[in-house]
Formats: sequence, C-alpha cells, structure tokens
Amino acid sequence: MWQTSDFGPKAENLDCIHCGLCLSSCPTYSQLWREADSPRGRIYLINAASEGKIEMDGTFQQHIDLCLGCRACESACPSGVQFGSLLTSARERMEVALPRSGLQAAIRKAAFQYLLPNPRLLHVFFRLARWAQNLRLDRLGRIVPPGSLLGRSLEQLANLPPIDPRARVLSGFFPARAEARQRVAFFRGCVMNEACFPAQRATLHVLNASGCEVEVTEGQTCCGALHDHNGERDQARDLAWRNIQAFGNDSLKPIVTNSAGCGALLKHYDHLFDAGDPRRERARGFSARVRDLSEFLAKSRAALPLRLLRARVTYDDPCHLIHGQRISQQPRLLLQQIPGLEYVELARASWCCGGAGSYSLTQPEMSARILRDKIENIAATEATAVVTANPGCMLQLAAGLRKAGLKIEVLHLAEILSRSISAGV
Ligand code: SF4
Ligand code: SF4
Repeated sequence: MWQTSDFGPKAENLDCIHCGLCLSSCPTYSQLWREADSPRGRIYLINAASEGKIEMDGTFQQHIDLCLGCRACESACPSGVQFGSLLTSARERMEVALPRSGLQAAIRKAAFQYLLPNPRLLHVFFRLARWAQNLRLDRLGRIVPPGSLLGRSLEQLANLPPIDPRARVLSGFFPARAEARQRVAFFRGCVMNEACFPAQRATLHVLNASGCEVEVTEGQTCCGALHDHNGERDQARDLAWRNIQAFGNDSLKPIVTNSAGCGALLKHYDHLFDAGDPRRERARGFSARVRDLSEFLAKSRAALPLRLLRARVTYDDPCHLIHGQRISQQPRLLLQQIPGLEYVELARASWCCGGAGSYSLTQPEMSARILRDKIENIAATEATAVVTANPGCMLQLAAGLRKAGLKIEVLHLAEILSRSISAGV
C-alpha cells in the first residue's frame, strides 16, 4: 500500500476540494463525460488506491493511462492541486504494481534505457526511419493486423513529416550574426533534434541574429521528460544529473530550450532529487538558468531584425508551455511583431492536440478524437500556417492536417521568425 506522504511534503492530492471546476477543461472528460476520466475522478482513484480502499488493477490503470498529462486541470484549479506531480507519482507506483507485458516492457526498455539517452543511437534510428520513409515501407501497414502495435507504428511512419536529410547531432559553437551581446547554452533535446531539425537550425539562426553566441554542449542528453511522465523516475533522475553536469555552473549563462516538454521538466529538475540529496541544490541552480526560447526572446533587449512576411498564421499552445510553464503571451507577442503577418487566434488553443508524448501510440482512439477537434479548429482559422513550440505537437498536428488533406504548414515559432529575418535577403 502507498502512503499519501509518498506524494511529497505537500501531499498535492489532499488540496482537492472536489469543486469540479477543472472538469470542463479536461480533454478526456469532454470526450467521455465519465467522472473516472476527469481530473477529480482520477484524484479520487489515486487517493483511494493510496489508502488501500481500492485495488490498483487493470481498470485503475486504464483511467490513469487515458490521462494525457496535459495539466490543463492544474491551470483551472482554484485550490492549487499539482496534478502533474500526482500523476507522475501514481504512474511510478503503477509500473511496480502492474508490470507491463513482455513486448510492451521490451519496447519501453529499448526506448527509455537505450535509445532516448543516446543521441548517436537515436540519430541512427531516425536515419533508418528516413530510409523506411523513402522506401514507403508504411504501405506494409495494409498487410499487418489493424490496431496492432506494428500497424500503429507504420501508420505513424506514414504520417511523419519527411525527416530532414541534413539532421545531425548538433554540437559546437555558433557565433552571433550581429554585435555579440550575450552567450547562451542551447538545450538541443532528443526527438526535437532528429524529427524537427529545421526548427533547430532556425533556433540557432534567430538566436545568432539577435546577437547571441550559442554553445551546444556535447555531453548533454535527453531531458528525461518522457521517462518521468511514464513512471520511470530513476532514469529521469540519471538523465537530469548528466545534463546538470554537462551544462556546468555558470549562473550567468542562460540555457535556452525550444521544446516545451523539455523546458517544463528542466525548470523543475530539483523535484527529481530527494530533500537530503546533495545534488538537489545543483539541480535548483541549473533550473534557474532555463528559459523557453519565446520567454528568452520576449525579454531580450535586442530587437530581432524582422522583415516583411505576408502570411496568415495561428498559434497552438503546447500544454507544457501554457500549463507547465505558464507561457502563453510571449509567443503571440513575437508573432505579432512580424511585419505583414496576419495573426488569427485559434479556438481552444490551450487544449491538448492529443500528441502527449507517446499517447498517440498507446491511446490511438482517444488521441485521434482529440486531434480531430483540434484540426477542425485550425481549419476554421483559414490560416496558411499553424505555429507551435514542441516536437510532439508539431508531429501530431502535421499528421492530423495531412490526414485531413489540408495544406496548412506546421511551423515552430523559431521557423517563422527565421523566415521573417531572412525575408528579402
Ligand atoms: S492532465 Fe489533462 S487529461 Fe489528465 S486529468 Fe488533467 S486535464 Fe484531464
Ligand atoms: S478544480 Fe481542483 S479542487 Fe476542484 S475538483 Fe478539480 S482538482 Fe479538485
């Protein structure tokens, strides 16, 4: 049996006053209208399991697995319930109480333990995916059982935007293209670097054009967010410590990230270490240096050399930026600074797109339902491009737009800023 004290000194779940104000912002509740698939219902289940009143069985697992971890409930909660931490703790315990089946366990182990922490191996994996894309191996999906893991993976491959052949494991020093005024460290991420390489190049371009010298530290690795969200906290802690060591102690050098999911965890690395752990203080120092790209640029005193760019653009908030880091105005302000750009607000922009890490693979039906609503809202804006700032969201939106036959580009915020900087040059 767990103890509620397992959830940390604040016992985040105990703050819930059952008011239900979070229900209308929960994507799974708004699809199913079932209490057990609402934030309040999940808190109730987690509490009951922690007190030994219910079994942590398959039904419990279903309701917890169906949660996107989007944290929209946290933003809506007047009582300050930290649902994200609660969910992570519950998933960590669930992995022990309900071990996954052989194949699932093997895939998780391969991804979490070997692939994501190893940038060179991940690069080889994406090279192979590119090769499979070129050979149109996704067509094999027609002969494997629909709904099987292989079938779903092939469908994902078919919907994945073409992998940039220039993608490489970024590292080194990138000099300023204007008068140098600051040096920053860039957190390159793992999937972001391979699946969204144009966004990486654009990020370096924008930072350099704004007068930043950029260091991409060699020893850095995956942030550990996928591990943490999936109950693999020990692995997340190991990755965090590798990053903390790799980025050194220079408190005056900001660490810039362009991936919302990474940023949300990087800013809270200290939570991964126990109170008595001497590494916790180092983690706190590291987190204090982390800035999302939009946050960094919006605060920067150097004006971006933006030029005329005619486009009708909308913006979709990544959950881990708006709910995880409370950043929503900065990307919009930056977009609105681009001369000639027509900005149009997206209905329900703060709602999850259904990407949520590996959710589209593990919960394909719910992910597709949530994505369908998002794509309808994007189509209604009549925008030529939708901008966001997280690799999972970019891939999910691209897949949804492609499936719907809509010719709307998906761009990272850095990409559209970079286009504006280069316009007419
Ligand atoms: S994290 Fe998202 S999906 Fe999960 S309960 Fe909260 S609002 Fe619902
Ligand atoms: S809004 Fe907060 S306090 Fe109210 S039910 Fe939801 S989690 Fe509980």
